[in-house]
Parts: sequence; structure tokens; C-alpha cells
Amino acid sequence: MSQMIQYCGMDLTKDIDCFLLDLDGTVYFGNRPIEGAIDAVIRMRKSKRVIFLTNNSSATREFYARKLTKMGIPATVEDVYTSANATCDWLIKNRPNAKLYVVASPDVTEEFSRRGLSTDEEADTVVLTFDKTLDYKKLTDACFLISRGAFYIATHPDMTCPVEDGELPDIGSFMRLIEGTTGKLPDLICGKPYSTIAEGVEAMTGIPRTQTAMIGDRLTTDMRFALDNGLKAVLTLSGVTDRKTYEASGLKVDKVIDSLAVWDR
Ligand SMILES: [Mg+2]
Repeated sequence: MSQMIQYCGMDLTKDIDCFLLDLDGTVYFGNRPIEGAIDAVIRMRKSKRVIFLTNNSSATREFYARKLTKMGIPATVEDVYTSANATCDWLIKNRPNAKLYVVASPDVTEEFSRRGLSTDEEADTVVLTFDKTLDYKKLTDACFLISRGAFYIATHPDMTCPVEDGELPDIGSFMRLIEGTTGKLPDLICGKPYSTIAEGVEAMTGIPRTQTAMIGDRLTTDMRFALDNGLKAVLTLSGVTDRKTYEASGLKVDKVIDSLAVWDR
């Protein structure tokens, strides 16, 4: 009975106007959509605003829009917001003249340039993304700049990224390596669970946080993000968190669902 009380409560079809959907572990694993997720998003879009909100800064909004479209969820860049986009928006507002050293794939680096942000060899700001083209030179350059006092931004804090076969080393693991070398942690982290991405996405939707729900699979990012930033927290058990881990965490989310497929059931 106590489980019933804990897991029911909020009617997502009535109480929410805007859904922020995590991608990895929530909508898909790598290139495989989670069972029922595509139909679930299509149903959701009939009456709700849906934004795909991912910490995964290894790719651009264009990439995610194409990937989702190919999977059967037609999407444009306006439907996607990443931690790299939140970082761009923060930089434009707070440090528009920063000279950046961006640790990122060529596409994501270009996304920063396209927004008018400049890169420079004598950078005063290091931006660390989930760079799947990371190499020893980039690590060394970033560590030198950070040691010399450059402002250090990480797009998000995730240690790993779930894919079909296991978990990839994500930016949190890179941060550990940089900390081991320089003794420094980022001055700012923009992605979930932090407030920068909440401000960015709210500016995009214009929908109040109390009518917005975050659906995601990770407690330390998605759920912490919702709880700390005044959004409704909906945990999906389709990804990195199982029921036992949730119950042991001490977090109290607004709703737990087995997967996105049953959001309206
Ligand atoms: Mg996830």
C-alpha cells in the first residue's frame, strides 16, 4: 500500500504543460529506441510542449534533431537543448568577450563559434565538453590553461553515459583526470542538475517551472535538477537507475514510471 501512495499521485496528463525529456536511457540507448518511447512522445506532443534536454554535449542540436527524426520522432533544433547550448547561452550573457579553448568535437566547437564566441590560443576560459575526439594534446592544453588560472567551465557532471553495451566514460571522468593534474575543479558546471540549464530552457519555453516536468533516468542529474530548480521530477526506470537504487537514495521524486512508454497510463 505504501508503494501505491509513493508511486501514484501526480497525473502527468493533467498537471503538466511542458515535458523536458532526457535522451540517453530515457528515449533511447545509443541507436536503439526504448520500447514504446516513440509512440509515447507522439502521444505527448498532441497536447504538451516537449523539449529533449540532454547533458550529452558530444553532439550538436542538429545532430540530435536528425537522430530523433530518423528514429521516428520528427524534431528540429528548437526541440532540443543540450548542456553545450546552455553553456553558450551563459557565456553570451556573462562573458561575451571570453577567449575560449573548447575541448569538443569539431561540430560542437563550431556550434560555439556560430554563436559568435571566439576561440584563441591564449584562451582565458576553458570549456570542457563530452569530447569523443579527446586526445592527449587537448588534455595537456586544457590542463596548462587551467593551471595558469583560466576560468574553467564543464558542460555537465555525468561520470558515464549509458549505451546499449554498457557505460561510456563521460565528462565527470575527464574532470577527475584534470583535477588529478591541476588540483582544480570547474568554476561552473552548466548542465543538469545545475541552474544554468534550467534558466536556459525556461527562457526557451516560457512555461513556468511548476507546470514543467523533467523525465529522466539519473538521480544525481535529472532528478536532482528537477528537485533543486522547482520542476516536477519524474524518474524513469528504463536507464541507469533501478527501483532499489531509487528507494535507497533518500530522494523523493514526484512520480516513478517504468519507462516513457507508460507516462500517461
Ligand atoms: Mg540519461
